[in-house]
Amino acid sequence: MYNAMKLKEIGEFGFIDRVAPLGRIRAEGVVKGIGDDCAVVAVDGPDYLLVTTDLLVERVHFLMDWAPAEVIGRKALAVNLSDIAACGGIPLDAFISLAIPEDLDVEWLDGFYQGMRGLADSFRVNLLGGDTTGSKSDLVINVAVTGRVPCDQVLLRHTAREGDVIAITGPLGESAAGLEILLGKLQLPPQVAAPLVAAHLEPRPHLPEGRFLASSGACTSAIDVSDGLSSDLGHLCQDSGVAAVVYEDRIPVSLPLARFAELTSRNPIEIILSGGEDYVLLVALKHNMAEDLQRRAHQQGMRLHPIGEFIAGRGMELVRRNNTREPFGPRGWDHFRA
Ligand SMILES: [Mg+2]
Repeated sequence: MYNAMKLKEIGEFGFIDRVAPLGRIRAEGVVKGIGDDCAVVAVDGPDYLLVTTDLLVERVHFLMDWAPAEVIGRKALAVNLSDIAACGGIPLDAFISLAIPEDLDVEWLDGFYQGMRGLADSFRVNLLGGDTTGSKSDLVINVAVTGRVPCDQVLLRHTAREGDVIAITGPLGESAAGLEILLGKLQLPPQVAAPLVAAHLEPRPHLPEGRFLASSGACTSAIDVSDGLSSDLGHLCQDSGVAAVVYEDRIPVSLPLARFAELTSRNPIEIILSGGEDYVLLVALKHNMAEDLQRRAHQQGMRLHPIGEFIAGRGMELVRRNNTREPFGPRGWDHFRA
């Protein structure tokens, strides 16, 4: 008899830690394997090859009646493009694999590919192939995307330094609020609900921001916010061996999120810390270049909000508006513990 351990006991990241050492057969050329937004592989020429993949499962990640097929297709690609953005890269080719329930309408699949194609077109990404198979019940969508990034510009999670400014490329928390609305827990006025639901279903991959930051020479580290600010900032801190201080009054709160928080009697900062799937970039900036970079970003129609700084040590701290300091830990999404 062996002592069976369930996945929920070790969590998603415990599982990754167990399998990661098994994968390294040929270490040369592997710049980064498991544990970043993309795998980074050295190939001939001035660029690294980036590879990322994501799995979406009906009833785990989405419900078919949440949105038209086009919207689900776009999101399936967008979340992968976001990982290319987090490494500062340019996306190249996408591969789509589907496990399809036999009663699914062909029109749905047409819509799914149309949606994906629209987004692929706007970022010049080929949809090159994949695999299709039947499914006994749920629709399963896997998308893999390749990209490239100049070797001296790749953005990784383990390279933030003490003294760097913490910044985000857009507002957080809207997607999590939108998910709550989609799950039917709340009845809210449409003008509040619509932008939040859109933030959840139609995230924009921050590819222009990723390239801007990677080529600036001022960005030392990056991740895309898929699991919530507390979890993803936790990844940067842990992987880089630094601590973080975040200031409540510097975290932007969008108007729809502010209204949502008001109507549900919550503090928007709590939603921002724990809510995921924002797909904005969370980055570390060299202290002496951060202000200039922020100015240049705004000139180019991009947003860059400094929200805190990395310091020596371990852990994360939130400085409240009244100046009290509160430690906080990762409390975002873990697929097997949720
Ligand atoms: Mg990511």
